[in-house]
Amino acid sequence: MSNSEAPYERFTAAARELADLGHAESLLHWDQETCMPRRGSGPRARSLGTLAGLVHERLTAPDLVELVESLDGEGLSGDARVNVRELKRHQDRALRIPRELVVELTRTESLAHEAWVEAREKSEFVLFQPWLEKIVDLKRQEAHAVGFTGSVYNALLDHFEPHARVEEIEPLLGELRRRLVPLVEEILGSEAAAQREDLLEREYDVALQESFGRRVLADLGFDMEAGRLDVSVHPFCSGSHPGDVRLTTRYAAGQLTSALFGIIHEAGHGLYEQGLPAEAEGLPVGGSVSLGIHESQSRTWENAVGRSREFWEHYLPHLAECFPAQLEGVGVDRFYAFVNRVERSLIRVEADEMTYDLHILLRFELEKALIEGELDVGDLPGVWNERMDSYLGIRPGSDAEGVLQDIHWSMGLIGYFPTYTLGNLYGAQFHRRACADLGDLPGQIRRGEFSGLLGWMRENIHSRGSRLTASELVQEVTGEPLRVDYLMEYLEGKYRPLYGLD
Ligand code: ZN
Repeated sequence: MSNSEAPYERFTAAARELADLGHAESLLHWDQETCMPRRGSGPRARSLGTLAGLVHERLTAPDLVELVESLDGEGLSGDARVNVRELKRHQDRALRIPRELVVELTRTESLAHEAWVEAREKSEFVLFQPWLEKIVDLKRQEAHAVGFTGSVYNALLDHFEPHARVEEIEPLLGELRRRLVPLVEEILGSEAAAQREDLLEREYDVALQESFGRRVLADLGFDMEAGRLDVSVHPFCSGSHPGDVRLTTRYAAGQLTSALFGIIHEAGHGLYEQGLPAEAEGLPVGGSVSLGIHESQSRTWENAVGRSREFWEHYLPHLAECFPAQLEGVGVDRFYAFVNRVERSLIRVEADEMTYDLHILLRFELEKALIEGELDVGDLPGVWNERMDSYLGIRPGSDAEGVLQDIHWSMGLIGYFPTYTLGNLYGAQFHRRACADLGDLPGQIRRGEFSGLLGWMRENIHSRGSRLTASELVQEVTGEPLRVDYLMEYLEGKYRPLYGLD
């Protein structure tokens, strides 16, 4: 850092350098998931470790700490205030977690992950239990090092959903559960549910699936000059810059729509990344708000748009041109019902839009109880199975189908799960506002026009970067705080008619 520049200019130069290092990390990760040869994994892990060390060193360098401290006390306004505040948040976190704890967490997470893979293969929770106990203990130490007010869980939640507090989200998530459980029960008990079957189990050429997916991606407004679509085992979106956004999906010949909905979901993330304010690129305000706001984008495009009747009124004829034999005689009603099947599933990642949040709420309640010391790791499988039964009316037959199914806890990701459901809540509230502002959004979708909705998202959400926190953004865009009603209204309005309920 040269001392001849003004303090805020020195600050932005340092912040942009940190962003550049993050950019390199994210590209190495993307490469690892999409095209790295198998034997590249050792050296790659080392490179990523080196970069992470460099980021930590730069972020916590005494001259940057001092600079941030003095700027923070200067009473800045506008973007400068948010930039300093957010960098300070990262810096404080990095400074407060002792080096020995970071090393111990990294080591434990990698061993716990291996233990989880084996435990899941053998479907024996006891093989993973001591590792999860250790992770919970270390994450609690991390939370105490970072500091918090109210619940200890806040320190972990804040890492994924900045400025969110469990005291505020828990009442909403509890209300959602109380309203969802009886609706799901009613739907699954309906006559229509008893008649639902998988009508489209046939073979669908993967190359044709891909070209159809690319066409939809372009129609939605994803800029291929500023992004890519590739294949990976687990679909993801990694954006390091509005001009370079990487999406992935996976194709299976036996499944017609899973790759497509994967593409639309990741496109929702990608459109957000491409729409972030380019002028603030590399600075905290130029980034996304939170995982929850990110997920509000992917869920809106995937579900409210991609699984709508209007969307398929437009695209089914085109899809049938790709697969004339397989889709012969399949009309819009049948297809719409097919892509919106509600099922009692055990596995979160296969869950439909209606039941998905119940899977999440269960995980949120359990991980919060673990961290707060209200639940012992040893009791986890039993409590998991009981809650699955009471929320979804289904009981896992094994640990692999129950408590061992997700990778998150084995990687120390505690506080992450609620962001999925927050995303659905934010998404439904934004979508309702967009419908009111745009007039005939369903008509636009029926014509395959998405620029109205994308323009609305750009103006109201994307272009703001992270100038507002998630709850400020919801208030600003919709005129009220986050509520459960809009997601429930959306689900009721869509699924009651679909399942012949009044
Ligand atoms: Zn997502």
